[in-house]
Amino acid sequence: MKILVINSGSSSLKYQFIDMETNDVLAKGLCERIGIDGVITHKKSGAEDYKKEVDLKSHDEAIQLVLSMLQDDTYGVIKSIDEIDAVGHRIAHGGEKLKESAVIKDEDLEYLYSIQNLAPLHVPPAIKGIEACRKLMDGVPQVGVFDTSFYSTMEPESYVYPLPYELYEEHQIRRYGFHGTSHRYVASRAAEMLGKDIKDLKIITCHLGNGSSITAVDHGKAVDTSMGFMPNGGILMGTRCGDIDPSILPYMVNALGMSGEEVETIINKKSGLLGVSGVSSDARNVREAAAQGNERARLAEKILVHGIKKHIGSYVAEMNGLDCIVFTAGLGENSADVREWVCENMDYLGIQMDNEKNASAPRGQEADVTAEGGKVKVLVIPTNEEYMIALDTATLAAQDK
Ligand code: AMP
Repeated sequence: MKILVINSGSSSLKYQFIDMETNDVLAKGLCERIGIDGVITHKKSGAEDYKKEVDLKSHDEAIQLVLSMLQDDTYGVIKSIDEIDAVGHRIAHGGEKLKESAVIKDEDLEYLYSIQNLAPLHVPPAIKGIEACRKLMDGVPQVGVFDTSFYSTMEPESYVYPLPYELYEEHQIRRYGFHGTSHRYVASRAAEMLGKDIKDLKIITCHLGNGSSITAVDHGKAVDTSMGFMPNGGILMGTRCGDIDPSILPYMVNALGMSGEEVETIINKKSGLLGVSGVSSDARNVREAAAQGNERARLAEKILVHGIKKHIGSYVAEMNGLDCIVFTAGLGENSADVREWVCENMDYLGIQMDNEKNASAPRGQEADVTAEGGKVKVLVIPTNEEYMIALDTATLAAQDK
């Protein structure tokens, strides 16, 4: 079975075309600046990158271009669209109703329209992607894989906020959790790496990227996660603040005279590494500045590490134990420093890292960086959300036949 995986953003569209028999990525690429001007970067496995400026007015046009690239004589990998068995769409939010990956029917699309305001930057482009694929690939199953669905196993005490209950019942204000596809993938890979059944393990997965979240996976089920109602909350991120005292928000409005919009911009785009350091949202730039003595840059790193440790500690308490901790995403996979700082002074919890193994862990590869005799396994696992989406899509498409 051959699956096209689509990840639509507001002005971009990433894609991978995967052969599920061999797990090979046959081709992948990225359309950028959709609705502005347009550029595509396409890579056929084993061939050179193809990059071209092309006018892309809409997601329809971007998907049309992707389909023609996949069939191109030189850069393509198929002869006809009929060779695409199903399309998997990454969807950031499934709301309260779409709790599992699903073949998207008309009523599901309608539901997605109704919850657009829960993730206004992410759900509308995903809808556009699905609609475009439906139009261009009649009869090909379109599967939605939701970032939130991994958290459908959480108990109400993890997801209901201590606000008036009507806000949950009537306005669906609750913890949803995000990056679920990534956490699900690395947790299952961790079990495979350890040669154990995931149902026998207590795992904490740390997805540390531009957006970051930490999830407790108890016997294969997500029981808690750091992100909440929207992709914010939890630990400090590139530009997002994570957990703060909620009273700060009305204070900014009432005492400092800011508008709701300004507050939203501050907590999502001007906080985190960027806000504290004043240097950059990119952890590499912050590291460089901190190494040169910039104290605010160093403070931003310390707040990040402090937040990660706090979440690990609380999730160990929730699960009554820990077998494995996983680091993934841009920062988790690549920053040996952050991994080392997080695992420092955690031996009380059984977390002991081999700092040499950690420092020399090869980029882009799975690694076990546990110290000799360490009770809790410490693993680095590159995330692969596209593969997870393709896997769900292949399973559901086979059932849909
Ligand atoms: P992501 O959102 O998963 O793409 O992750 C982006 C974050 O990963 C940014 O803060 C980058 O600075 C960080 N990152 C990427 N590569 C490296 C690296 N080699 N060393 C340290 N941080 C990195």
